[in-house]
Amino acid sequence: MANVLAVTNQKGGVGKTTTTINLAASLALADQNVLIVDMDPQANLTSGIGRKGSFQPAGTVYEALTAENVTDVRDFVVATEVEGLSLLPADRNLTGAEVELVSLDDRERRLRPLLQQAKIEFDYVFIDTPPSLGFLTLNALVAADGVLIPLTCDYFALEGLAELMTTLRRVQASFNPELEISGVLLTMADNRTNLGQQVAKEVRDFFGEKVFDTSIPRNIRLAEAPSHGLPVILHDVRSKGAEAYLSLAKEFISRRQNCRKEET
Ligand code: ATP
Ligand code: MG
Repeated sequence: MANVLAVTNQKGGVGKTTTTINLAASLALADQNVLIVDMDPQANLTSGIGRKGSFQPAGTVYEALTAENVTDVRDFVVATEVEGLSLLPADRNLTGAEVELVSLDDRERRLRPLLQQAKIEFDYVFIDTPPSLGFLTLNALVAADGVLIPLTCDYFALEGLAELMTTLRRVQASFNPELEISGVLLTMADNRTNLGQQVAKEVRDFFGEKVFDTSIPRNIRLAEAPSHGLPVILHDVRSKGAEAYLSLAKEFISRRQNCRKEET
């Protein structure tokens, strides 16, 4: 079962970072021990959780990925304001990693050993990925047990999905046969419009059971929360956005319990 999840879609602005922060924080509130990993040189995850410029003496995810010798993940993890939620932070240096990784040994497998260690300490690990299918995203997919794909409910939602599916198959074939699609999440959903409903139906036809019943509505509190460096549950717990991510966390946990029952 997937405990390390890459939140991925090479399309920009679909809610990868928002989902990583808010699903992880909602799970932490439900007493889970959660690590979020910032694999995006934009470092939106790091600033969105209020940790811009924070890192341990060993450095950020950049140093962790490019170190000559295998490192201990605990040297890089920082705490957040949310109890039970930790962060492996990034900064702008990560931009260079995309190029530097090319010449390193095991360039696709730099993140995996670190997160294998993290699995011992954390119930869940979520990796926020950049809007591209380069080496940083590839490292996330090789390190992950599953992918969580956020999709916006607009006309272009399914655009580029074929490319993402091809990448996932390639990663499964070459590096990580266990990689599964753990879930598809409709974000910025507007059920009041015909287009919103139509796109949601198309996504459900294509991905079936993989699509979460919970969808995330467009909500201004979700967009504001990162400017306060907080997940939405600490910014405005009564907002529609907070409600949606809390119910996503609930569905996430109950789906996994059902999976476990099926496995035994
Ligand atoms: P990128 O590809 O650049 O990393 P992303 O996929 O991580 O983007 P986000 O940064 O999470 O996407 O979201 C894009 C923008 O939309 C942000 O300004 C965010 O605050 C806002 N946003 C995300 N989800 C919602 C929502 N449900 N309602 C309103 N605004 C949202
Ligand atoms: Mg992002």
